[in-house]
Amino acid sequence: MELVIQNLSKTYPGGVRALRDVSLTIPTGMFGLLGPNGAGKSTLMRTLATLQEPESGTVRLGELDLLREKDAVRRVLGYLPQEFGLYPNLSAEVVLDHFATLKGISSGKERARAVTALLEQTNLAAVRRSPVGGFSGGMKQRLGIAIALLGAPKLVIVDEPTAGLDPTERHRFLNLLSEIGQDIVVILSTHIVEDVRELCSNVAIIAAGQVRAQGSPDALIERLRGTIWRRRISRDALAAVRAQHRVISTRLIAGAPEIRVHAASSPGDGFVQVEPDLEDVYFEQVTAASAGEAA
Ligand code: ADP
Repeated sequence: MELVIQNLSKTYPGGVRALRDVSLTIPTGMFGLLGPNGAGKSTLMRTLATLQEPESGTVRLGELDLLREKDAVRRVLGYLPQEFGLYPNLSAEVVLDHFATLKGISSGKERARAVTALLEQTNLAAVRRSPVGGFSGGMKQRLGIAIALLGAPKLVIVDEPTAGLDPTERHRFLNLLSEIGQDIVVILSTHIVEDVRELCSNVAIIAAGQVRAQGSPDALIERLRGTIWRRRISRDALAAVRAQHRVISTRLIAGAPEIRVHAASSPGDGFVQVEPDLEDVYFEQVTAASAGEAA
């Protein structure tokens, strides 16, 4: 089953064009939607989660018209929003049982079985009776994914799930996502390139409401081969170099700036050609978008 998004546009009251003619074909497996803050990721995720209407465009999930057959879509949808509230005094088990009821799992036995399986899958079985108000950020996100996985969804959407997690929790969460399965469509929206690099066989880069690039990480990286150059420079020289070259990123290496420049041939003395990585792909596209270049 594929998710096929065609020509989706959304302008908010006030005039922000959050989505501009977005078209994407998303196969089963883990798909990364990568973009900076304000790119339109959440707008797209909320639209796909049937919570918000676009002005124009169509979305199909297999045979379903996602924008028209909302009830049918919701039965096969799992959504972990960027922010969600939970009653702090309820236990993980009670919360999950409640959401299982909302998902339409009416048999108590079946619910108990689903809740237990998901608590185990998300490594929360030991704290099943603890109030969720005391959970760490990582535990809350794992409970969120357990809620999203209730009812065996065919489309799972997770919006910026690792923001605010420490490295151990982040890894645990990404491992959990990687185990969801390759038979369903999983969309991971994030501004963290590493999350996508580790998990996703396909990615799209979105900036200023537009899809800038899409494909496998390796194919996107390959397109930049031979065009990325790095150089250590002093802080004072940064502005001058920026004016002269297309600087796509600045990293601090032991406190000193190291720039990466996109150029078809050597930008000059002191530059060393490097193997491109997915961050270069991402920053190149974000730089082009903020310079107002066409996608
Ligand atoms: P992202 O998730 O990539 O950070 P969003 O979809 O949240 O991007 O936002 C895209 C753009 O739309 C931003 O400029 C944001 O300020 C604007 N926006 C988001 N939600 C609303 C809203 N409800 N009303 C008006 N503008 C909004």
